[in-house]
Amino acid sequence: MTPPAPWQRAANGAMLLDGAGRLAPTIFAEMSALATATDSINLGQGFPDEDGPDEVLEAAHEALRSGLNQYPPGRGMPVLLEAVAAHQRRFYGLDVDPQREVLVTAGATEALAATILAFVDRGDEVVTLEPFYDAYGAVIGLSGGVHVTVPLRGPDSTVDADELRRAFGPRTRLVVLNDPHNPTGSVLDDATRRLLLELAVEHDALVVTDEVYEHLLFDGAVHVPFATLPGAAARTISISSGGKTFNTTGWKIGWLTGPAELVDRIVAVKQYLTFVNGSVFQPAIAVGLGLPDAYFEGIARTLAHKRDVLSDGLRRAGFAVRASHGSYFVVADAAPLGFDDAADLCRRLPELAGVVGLPISAFCHPELAAEQSSLVRFAFCKRIEVLEQASAQLASLSV
Ligand code: PMP
Ligand code: GLN
Repeated sequence: MTPPAPWQRAANGAMLLDGAGRLAPTIFAEMSALATATDSINLGQGFPDEDGPDEVLEAAHEALRSGLNQYPPGRGMPVLLEAVAAHQRRFYGLDVDPQREVLVTAGATEALAATILAFVDRGDEVVTLEPFYDAYGAVIGLSGGVHVTVPLRGPDSTVDADELRRAFGPRTRLVVLNDPHNPTGSVLDDATRRLLLELAVEHDALVVTDEVYEHLLFDGAVHVPFATLPGAAARTISISSGGKTFNTTGWKIGWLTGPAELVDRIVAVKQYLTFVNGSVFQPAIAVGLGLPDAYFEGIARTLAHKRDVLSDGLRRAGFAVRASHGSYFVVADAAPLGFDDAADLCRRLPELAGVVGLPISAFCHPELAAEQSSLVRFAFCKRIEVLEQASAQLASLSV
């Protein structure tokens, strides 16, 4: 039997440790390296293969040429703080004070890390959905917290209300909520959102929302930020990032918004993580956030079409394909093709079809990993011809 890959061992331990007790490489690093080494189509790590809007790219060039090349202010450059506040008002009717209630970070990743490290002490419990984005497990582990998960089950990735209630207890400190959801492509329903708020209030927990796919909902659906629920804003830190919205995942410009006293505590941690972030990228993301509505509608429409192209291709190849309502990702069940172990299939997929995908088990603790062992996540944020080529290659699996 082949030994498990480092990320498989990692997903099995709260601290994401490898066999030697070190933090293991992420599934994304591992599988992108495999795609490069085998010259496969990379539908594993979620990043676009095309540039975003010219206005945004040009603004970064302009910032670089105009000498904005030194440390910007710690909380972020005023132009971006203002743009984030204006974005929250324009899309969601949320009022945030750009000076006191916004913090610019190195992507959503640093926003999540600084927030978790700011509020979680050893033994505190942090509730997330499961499957979960890998950084949640790692940072909760680094903070000394205990990761408690609520499974998303079935083709519609639903939350069971009783399981959600059972996840909360006297040690619950934070809830980290990812909506739209990576890796399942699901969007939270109103009843679950309301129950989450009720439980957070009852247990006096803070809610940290990861909304990096806020503009990537499909079929006319509109994103509902948790902070817009009546009574939620006072206990919510809302996190997002420019990477997915403007095809700038390499720029690592993210932000968070929330009550001033909570943001102050996060700033205190953030200053020792990165201190400040990308001076030439901040004004460019500010330009992006101010683009007309047609831009935001256009990216969701384009991505929905890509979802359809890949979902159809996966179906033709013999996968049972689940609905994706948002994000970059679609989940496909390989069981109808005779593959019950998606981790094994994903290791062999470059050789079988020249394509890389990620097993859902890499986003799960062992119990749910066993239950969802035949599921693969594919990223569709790629050019249409790439998705068509991948679909054609995957068709060889069923012959
Ligand atoms: N959260 C989720 C759910 C993600 O999918 C990602 C990956 N892009 C991140 C956070 C990290 O975002 P960033 O690249 O802005 O740090
Ligand atoms: N968010 C991206 C994904 O889920 C990748 C981010 C990363 O490489 N850490 O695929």
